Amino acid sequence: MDFRWTEEQELLIQSLEELLKREAPETLLAELDTRHEFPFKPWQALADNGILALGIPEEYGGVPADITTLTLVCETLGRHALPLGIIYSLGIITIRDIIQFGSEEIKAEVLGGFVRGDLPVALGITEPQAGSDAAALKATAQFDGDDVIFNGQKMYCTLAQITKYILLLTRDPQVANPYEAMSMWLLPTDTPGLRFNPVNKVGWWTVPSYEVYIENARIPRKKLVGQYNFGWPQLMANFEIERLALCAASLGAAQAALEDSLAYANQRVQFGRPIGSYQAVQHILTDMAVKVENMRNFVYKIAWMMDQGQPVRHEHAMCKLYVAQAACEVTDSAMQILGGLGYTMDHRVQRLWRDIRLMRIGGGTDEIMYNIAGPQLLKQARKG
Ligand SMILES: Cc1cc2nc3c(=O)[nH]c(=O)nc-3n(C[C@H](O)[C@H](O)[C@H](O)COP(=O)(O)OP(=O)(O)OC[C@H]3O[C@@H](n4cnc5c(N)ncnc54)[C@H](O)[C@@H]3O)c2cc1C
Repeated sequence: MDFRWTEEQELLIQSLEELLKREAPETLLAELDTRHEFPFKPWQALADNGILALGIPEEYGGVPADITTLTLVCETLGRHALPLGIIYSLGIITIRDIIQFGSEEIKAEVLGGFVRGDLPVALGITEPQAGSDAAALKATAQFDGDDVIFNGQKMYCTLAQITKYILLLTRDPQVANPYEAMSMWLLPTDTPGLRFNPVNKVGWWTVPSYEVYIENARIPRKKLVGQYNFGWPQLMANFEIERLALCAASLGAAQAALEDSLAYANQRVQFGRPIGSYQAVQHILTDMAVKVENMRNFVYKIAWMMDQGQPVRHEHAMCKLYVAQAACEVTDSAMQILGGLGYTMDHRVQRLWRDIRLMRIGGGTDEIMYNIAGPQLLKQARKG
């Protein structure tokens, strides 16, 4: 077992850290958060410095990268600039679906733009009646000559209004089995017939999410991504890496919360001594550090397994479940260590606490992770 990073990974992460300190300093992130503004400039800086090219095929301007390297990038973004980690993680699933299933025309349209700094393609699965039960989605796609016409409503579609495309999931009502009735489309967000309504959220203030109303939105039918009615297996093909990316960003955020807590515990004096000298505070800090270490080991192991081509069907769900919960606990502990300051808007800990809470809901809730892992564990045990 070798826990060391490669020399290339060391250099990449070091230069990314320097870039983030320069282009996404805490003062800027705090300002953008207060103003609910997307971090356009830092995102462009990631593109300009080749970060968005990682994992994109070379013919579209990309650079090969394995899953472990992408995971380290997500972790680093989460640690220094969580909104960028969130945006990057959200983009991973749609970009990989396009790489894997998009036509040449679709790939040429989207991938080069992403490498140059376009925002990620938004993902349009969730609907008012279809949350955890994504297969209950009802948005329709009706063919009309060479065109297709969409109708329906999407919920929480992150980035939808500010990005160029939505990877839209629709349902064919003629097919009884929903898992054989979904299709995936590249829907330009300037298509007439789309209306966006921003969702007011507890966190993720720099990463907007929208209700999207779709009324007779017409595009050419060649914007189908992959095969008609194969949208569900196509979606599932890259869900695991999206969840891993969200876990890695959460790990980075938990690391940041731990670092803030350690610094504060050394510096804040009460009853004549730094609060870190009290055993009660040391216990909280040590529990946080143990959780961060466990999160890191789990995340890296899943990345390694995926790079080896090993299935991670229940392991990735267990990882998402553990990491999301542990990250929430660590950011909550950080708020405790910082006392009143942690609860004010003057320190980043409150932002980490708010932004991280979504990780137990988005990309599959805790309960759905139990539902994925539990039956698989039992099945494995029956096989012996
Ligand atoms: C900020 C934000 C960004 C998002 N971004 C996107 C996006 O870009 N694209 C997109 O398509 N979606 C997005 N989502 C949607 C997200 O994936 C869903 O919120 C999530 O899947 C849960 O669905 P729901 O909110 O409808 O909750 P529900 O499915 O209604 O769940 C409510 C509760 O019931 C529990 N529950 C439901 N079914 C079961 C079951 N079978 N067993 C046990 N418990 C169950 C859940 O775990 C949860 O606790 C986003 C959501 C948020 C809040």
